[in-house]
Amino acid sequence: MSCDFSTLSKVQGDPEQAMDLLQQCTDALTDPSLWYWTIGFTIVCALVGALIGKYKNAVVRDTLLGLALGPIGWIISLLLPAVKAKPVCPACKRVVDASDKHCRYCGAELNSTGLR
Ligand SMILES: [Zn+2]
Repeated sequence: MSCDFSTLSKVQGDPEQAMDLLQQCTDALTDPSLWYWTIGFTIVCALVGALIGKYKNAVVRDTLLGLALGPIGWIISLLLPAVKAKPVCPACKRVVDASDKHCRYCGAELNSTGLR
């Protein structure tokens, strides 16, 4: 007896057979090798998502997409636009608004072309 729908349709209300089938299905779901593969695959999906995120400047977003959706998350990550890097004050290295004329933290002058 194996754990599938054709076996389930043959059970026909026999409690003994139903318990046998339930046991088979429980064994299949609690097989540790299945879980190692599942966990390993999930980690790989998250890592590939993180790699995509590194190039899209959105590591957290793409890691979570890869973790939750696997290869579908990778495709979504690749289709989403890259996140623009926030400008950084050249004097104090803190993140500032692109529209700011002066750094809000140290007061250093920010020119629109000199922002990195
Ligand atoms: Zn500054």
